[in-house]
Amino acid sequence: MTATTLTKPASIDLAGLDEEIRRHLHYTLGYHERDVSPRYVCRATALAVRDRLVGSWQQTRDAIRETDQRRVYYLSLEFLIGRSLSNAIQNIDLDGPAREALHQYGLSLEEVAEKEHDAGLGNGGLGRLAACFLDSCANLKLPVVGYGIRYEYGMFHQHIENGRQVEDPDHWLRDGNPWEMERPDEAQNVHFYGYTEHYRDDEGTPRCRWAGSHDVVAVPYDMPIPGYRNKTVNTLRLWKAAATDAFDLEEFNSGSYPEAVASKNMAEQISMVLYPNDASENGKELRLKQQYFLVSASLQDIVKDWVEKHGDDFTDFGKKNCFQLNDTHPACAVAELMRILLDQYQMEWKQAWEITTQCMAYTNHTLLPEALERWSVSLFSRLLPRLLDIIYEINHRFLVEVSKKWPGDVARQRRMSLVEEGENPHIRMAHLAIVGSFSVNGVAGLHTELLKSGLFQDFYELWPEKFNNKTNGVTQRRWLAHCNPGLRDLLNETIGDGWQTDLSQIEKLRPFAEDAAFRKRWAEVKLQNKRRLIDYVRQTTGIEFQEAALFDVQVKRIHEYKRQLLNLLHVLNLYDRIQRGDTAGMVPRCVLIGGKAAPGYHVAKMIVNLINNVASVINADEKANDLLKLVFLPNYRVSAMEVICPATELSEQISTAGKEASGTGNMKFMMNGALTIGTLDGANIEIREQAGDENFFLFGLDAAEVSETKKAYDPNKIIAGDEEIQRIMAMIEGGRFDAGCPGTFNILTAGLRNPYDPWLTIADLRDYIDTQRKVDAAYKDQESWNRMSILNTANSGWFSSDRTIQQYADEIWQAKPLG
Ligand SMILES: *Cc1c(COP(=O)(O)O)cnc(C)c1O
Repeated sequence: MTATTLTKPASIDLAGLDEEIRRHLHYTLGYHERDVSPRYVCRATALAVRDRLVGSWQQTRDAIRETDQRRVYYLSLEFLIGRSLSNAIQNIDLDGPAREALHQYGLSLEEVAEKEHDAGLGNGGLGRLAACFLDSCANLKLPVVGYGIRYEYGMFHQHIENGRQVEDPDHWLRDGNPWEMERPDEAQNVHFYGYTEHYRDDEGTPRCRWAGSHDVVAVPYDMPIPGYRNKTVNTLRLWKAAATDAFDLEEFNSGSYPEAVASKNMAEQISMVLYPNDASENGKELRLKQQYFLVSASLQDIVKDWVEKHGDDFTDFGKKNCFQLNDTHPACAVAELMRILLDQYQMEWKQAWEITTQCMAYTNHTLLPEALERWSVSLFSRLLPRLLDIIYEINHRFLVEVSKKWPGDVARQRRMSLVEEGENPHIRMAHLAIVGSFSVNGVAGLHTELLKSGLFQDFYELWPEKFNNKTNGVTQRRWLAHCNPGLRDLLNETIGDGWQTDLSQIEKLRPFAEDAAFRKRWAEVKLQNKRRLIDYVRQTTGIEFQEAALFDVQVKRIHEYKRQLLNLLHVLNLYDRIQRGDTAGMVPRCVLIGGKAAPGYHVAKMIVNLINNVASVINADEKANDLLKLVFLPNYRVSAMEVICPATELSEQISTAGKEASGTGNMKFMMNGALTIGTLDGANIEIREQAGDENFFLFGLDAAEVSETKKAYDPNKIIAGDEEIQRIMAMIEGGRFDAGCPGTFNILTAGLRNPYDPWLTIADLRDYIDTQRKVDAAYKDQESWNRMSILNTANSGWFSSDRTIQQYADEIWQAKPLG
């Protein structure tokens, strides 16, 4: 699909882009004109576009360095960026010249752009949020730097073999990364292992230092984050691990040269691979190394910059700097800043603690207890001995405060301690983050309320003023303007283009919901987007979706709490009805499910397996196919979502209430005019409030009812009392999808039937099936459906990450835009 640009033609440096692409092809990459392939042209174009960012990038860096305003550092183990080329072209208004230049190679911008490898440096929502936030910070000209890890291997590539997920490594840097700039002169040393040494300084004061450590070098690679047509280019700094020059010098000298060279790999391993676990704890030593590596390199970088300007006067450090911790993954930052101030700048504890708690802010992303990070004290003391001392001291002083507030309440002290006592004691990273931060935020209204009344209730009672909500958002520049050019052009023509930098303006669309001619154009855009997805599904799976069908989509990480199984049970209900001839009121549906399961998460992998096996049976049944198709789309990622969300008509947001912190996929779909079928969970609640109850398909238990139901849950009774549900269970349990291996899916059916099933899938199934019938009825009336679709987009203004970031800037960071 080619897009026409209705906005003003590109203004900056119109001439010469084709010349620069040619130059990079020839001189930088060493290719001759006659063997141009789209892949080479993609790299050359990226380099030519990057050249045009360099000036503003330099200026923004200088402006941030010179500003007297507060600077913000977004610390995150994940940045799920996806592709950068078309985003950069859009943001610096080069669309016209780029198309013209590429035309000479007989290539469209889309063909070239899709050769770029996704930067998959994240698992899912948390990493994508970090990427949307950086885009919004640049759009708002805020002095914010992102800090992360330059993983050699990002999120694994997923393919399906015999219905099962297979993981392949994602060597995204194989062809080089045209966006990054290595800055070896700004490398930092990071300590590991060793021990704490006590000594007296020249004045005789007792001091500590970290001695006998094995050091690893952190080398920064900078990526540009271009703002939208505002001359701002912010920085994402990613650290790569390398061996120090002094690495095992003794081994070199003692004749074990090859062994010594080989052991350099030990250092380089730290930034080798992203841990593919979404919302689950991971106790591996290498993971803690990654966390500390990011934190220590970033803090040293920032402190060095401070000292260059202010010497060792840290009086204003806390006022002028702010660290936003994306979940507990970088929570070591609390102890690391203390270490730098105490050990390197000889500060007194009281002042160091005041500074630290002035500049740390923590965002919580999950209510799942199994996702709360804990590190064993024995690992901590071996790997980060000096940090553990500091954590113990923080804990000691903190528990004194707790016992002052609640004298004699030993149970509470035990609950709140940074150390979980027991045979094998652990450090609770969330407690460290809360105690060390001035701000603790959740990511949707319900999530924040549940943190205050549940997981963090003790802390809320101690420090209510720390707690606040920042409902997530997504950037409309990637998730509407870029990925849905048809809708972008229709919006620009209808309400102007102000929504691209101020999504609240999208409300101007509301009156057009009543305009039949406009609804027709709206439907035409959706149809074009459905055709684009039909092609994509055919190319990746060989299955043919029908353009007249309802496009029903659930894409997200595979997790029991997200309940892809609930979706599948409904698909089986439809299939059963078709086979029985009970198709009255049924609308043709194409159901698409996609997402990666963590490689070690067995149940999630079995869910992927069952979806694929059910899809094989349904898609092979020609009698069913006019009414129903099911596809499991392999390798869900950012660039896939850019094709999926513009074509989606029904967005499945069906997690067990109280489990999904926010969700952001739900927002991308809403912006693109999908209607949501969902539970009262995470940001769904706010989506329904904004869209209007009548434009949202609500079903299921709410969070309070979930707690109540769990007290006496009897799924087998529900199944026995509901004939349709009985038939669904019988289809799976009867072995129709086992592909010759009886009992393969027992683990899933046993889970559904378990009275202690935490996800209450069977409890919500009847209401879900009934609500899906209402969806069918609503889809039959296309005029009304399109009206609701327009109103969803028109009411999506609240879900821009620009709004979210403005709230972070005003209410947490106290940050002002650069002049
Ligand atoms: C938006 C997005 C997510 C988050 O989806 P949820 O439905 O909120 O879990 C995950 N992965 C990718 C690639 C995304 O673009």
